[in-house]
Amino acid sequence: MTDFTDVRRASAISRVREGNLGNPKTYFFKLPTGAAPRPFKIPEKIYPDIAWYNANRASNRIYHAVDGIEGVVIHATAGGSTDGALNWWRNPNGGKASAHWIVPDEDEYGHGREVLAVVYESLAAWHVRNDKTHALVGNRDHINHWTLGIEIVNSQTNLDQFSDWQVAITALLVRYCWAKYPNLKFVFSHALVDPQRRSDPGPQFDWGRFTGMIASDADDPPADNEALALVANVKARSGFPNLKPGDDCCM
Ligand SMILES: [Zn+2]
Repeated sequence: MTDFTDVRRASAISRVREGNLGNPKTYFFKLPTGAAPRPFKIPEKIYPDIAWYNANRASNRIYHAVDGIEGVVIHATAGGSTDGALNWWRNPNGGKASAHWIVPDEDEYGHGREVLAVVYESLAAWHVRNDKTHALVGNRDHINHWTLGIEIVNSQTNLDQFSDWQVAITALLVRYCWAKYPNLKFVFSHALVDPQRRSDPGPQFDWGRFTGMIASDADDPPADNEALALVANVKARSGFPNLKPGDDCCM
């Protein structure tokens, strides 16, 4: 049975939001040069079965795994749970896809605590089709090979707002990448580069607020000595780090 009050409230909320809807096909942000944050740790849980995703839903990068990273792609799941996304990606008749991180939804345990790392950063996760690109990123294709992918759990209906924490932690994740990858410069939506097929992260995702948070150091955790050392090491080396599932930081 439908609760009329809730329906009325929902439609009022949706009317208010319609005035503020963004166009996800235009979501693009260029990081300011010379303003990279000091490296810090992020609240990250390594997915226990990360090895399976590394082996079955990721490729070796065709560009350098550190110097070759130039972008972060923002996605939303169009489903209501982290498990739903993981199962869809895993299904051979389903998404056959992946991303480096999943940002949990409001009603999930990890919300407010941690993001889930599903693929090593050193590998190309499968989150954008190889033939997709855009003039704003120089018309370069094989986007998976020069980016990191973040998937936010959100149903992408006009009643499912992104939580403050989801927006803030995704911005912090971008800042974490910015500290780590010396050539990182682009942050953009999946919809920007695949507008015929995709609309994520959707019109409810407040791109202006999000990019304002990326540009601000106000919520950065303190610089961390281990993270500083890791980044120094990463910048110095030319090979691929050799980390295992369970390591508390994945490159
Ligand atoms: Zn997407």
